[in-house]
Amino acid sequence: MIHVDGLSHARLTAAVEQGHMPFVSHLMTAEGYESLSYRCGVPSTTPFAQAGILFGDNTEIPSYRWWDKEAGLLVTFGSGSTFGKVADRYFAGRIPLTVGGACIAALYRAGATDRFGPAYEERHRPDKRDAGGRAIAAFLLNPVTLYFWIRHGGLALFRIASEYLQARFSRRRTANVYVVADIYHEVLVHHLTRFALIQAMDEALPAIYACFYTYDEAAHAFGPTDPNTLRILRHIDSTIRLAAERRNANAGGIGYDLVVLSDHGQVETAPFMATDGRSLGSFVAEWLAGCTIREHRGRTFQEGGGHFAGRVEITYSGGLAHIYFADVPGRLDDEQLELKFPGLVAKIAALDRVGVVMLKSSSGGVLATREGRFSLKAPLTPDTAALLERFDSPGPLAAELRRLNSFERSGDVVVFGAFDGKTQVNFEDQVGGHGSIGGEQLHPFVLAKKAWGFDTSAVLDSSGLYPMLFALRQPV
Ligand SMILES: [Zn+2]
Repeated sequence: MIHVDGLSHARLTAAVEQGHMPFVSHLMTAEGYESLSYRCGVPSTTPFAQAGILFGDNTEIPSYRWWDKEAGLLVTFGSGSTFGKVADRYFAGRIPLTVGGACIAALYRAGATDRFGPAYEERHRPDKRDAGGRAIAAFLLNPVTLYFWIRHGGLALFRIASEYLQARFSRRRTANVYVVADIYHEVLVHHLTRFALIQAMDEALPAIYACFYTYDEAAHAFGPTDPNTLRILRHIDSTIRLAAERRNANAGGIGYDLVVLSDHGQVETAPFMATDGRSLGSFVAEWLAGCTIREHRGRTFQEGGGHFAGRVEITYSGGLAHIYFADVPGRLDDEQLELKFPGLVAKIAALDRVGVVMLKSSSGGVLATREGRFSLKAPLTPDTAALLERFDSPGPLAAELRRLNSFERSGDVVVFGAFDGKTQVNFEDQVGGHGSIGGEQLHPFVLAKKAWGFDTSAVLDSSGLYPMLFALRQPV
């Protein structure tokens, strides 16, 4: 299974039509594959989607980063990940998709052989600390891959740097942090992952899941439809070809089925701070004077003079923000919020750069906008349906929102950036973004053989893929 991070079904289709992915095109025309759109659910982020795919369970994963009130901790992935500290509360009794196999560069270990896997695992398992090191050493000791890496890596570095300079000179917006991440992913991580994937096939491991993040990083840096971002898909296409060629010709001597999938899409974004340089946290600090407001990733604010007290943690993931009242245990509902912080929700909802605010309520969930309040309860009222229509099909979207709203680890106040049908207001400094609702970010793909009979029409989040993928494994 090849995971292409951040590529929507629509972008894949366009890339194939424009000739950027000749091998995927071959799979579809000559090998009976079709690309199916599916709904990744909300939040449209990798931790949520990957948990669904790998464990069939993405409960209580409300974002890319979130505040865990019980543990008093910011939960994050990537470098400096803290997920390991709360991991024992997740996936109990689940059989990972890759059990006994290899899960390469994923956010979760997923019961598989660890190959330079999540840092949080390695830190807590000194006996296996070498697992990642060995994959990297083997990579560097292989002269063929090393030659290829230096040749391609040098080119990639040169190309990304010149794209960045061109974008700067033509005054296009680029997200600098993501330009660096893009270079790192393209030059190093993609090649290491590809090497580990081939190695796992040669070892005849029964199920292999390998994650490639280059497209997502480039789309954050340059935008999902930027011609330079699309060019990266050629590189991914060649990796798919390399794995496909080894399906029945590997040192492990077993035949593999190949699935290619993505976890979420991306949309064009406009920064929340674009008009006046103010973040959501600075507004909340003004309205809750006396409180300490801490943004992850962002700043810390403390406005004096007010009668409020306490600590507010705000976590951002693309166009999604969670606001947590860290001193209050559990999740506040709409009535408790109004009692403790009168008028706050209405003020947030009235910001022109906010699309929808979502709250827990005893009547099945509430959405607030500057136009008023809307019930999220099923069946939807015509008012709520008309509101959700601006983002996506109202019925499925409402179900996905109800699920996120049922999580105890969602913010007391959940904020979605405004969406005009094409561009989303984003809380982070990115050109392309995801995590929220609206457009292609909710619609990734799975490329599967028609003969397997995959039906994604009723899938409401990525955990719906788990049973289909698990069924491809040979009975143990
Ligand atoms: Zn991303």
